[in-house]
Amino acid sequence: MNGRVLVIEDNPENMELLVYLLRTSGNEVLTAEEGESGLAVAEREVPDLILCDIRMPVMDGFEVARRLKRDPALRDIPLIAVTASVSGADRESSLAAGFDDFVAKPIDPEKFLGQVTELLGDGAPADGKPQ
Ligand code: MN
Repeated sequence: MNGRVLVIEDNPENMELLVYLLRTSGNEVLTAEEGESGLAVAEREVPDLILCDIRMPVMDGFEVARRLKRDPALRDIPLIAVTASVSGADRESSLAAGFDDFVAKPIDPEKFLGQVTELLGDGAPADGKPQ
C-alpha cells in the first residue's frame, strides 16, 4: 500500500493507532481532529482514502460524509466510517450519509489493514464498477 489517507478522528488514542497502522504499512497519512478541518484538508489534498469517526463534537461523521459526497471533486474518494456500532441504526445512517465501508472500534489491526488494502488496492472505485 502507498496511498494518501486522511484520518478524521477526535479521540487521541484511536488516532494514534490508526496513524501508526497506516504509516507502518506504507501510506502517507493526513490527520484532522474534527469535521470542519477534515473537510478543509480533504479539499486541499484530495486524498486516496478517508477514514472518519462518527461520534465527534460540533460536526459528526454523518455530516462530514454528506458534505464530502456533495462535492464532485471529493465524492469518489472511498470513505470509511470508524464507529463502535457497526450494526443497526448507525450502520443505516452511515450508508445513507454516503459512507462506503465501516471499521469497528476497538480496531482489529489485521482486519482494518485488509479493508484499507481493498479500498486502496487496485484503484477500483468503491462501488466496485470497472473503471
Ligand atoms: Mn469520537
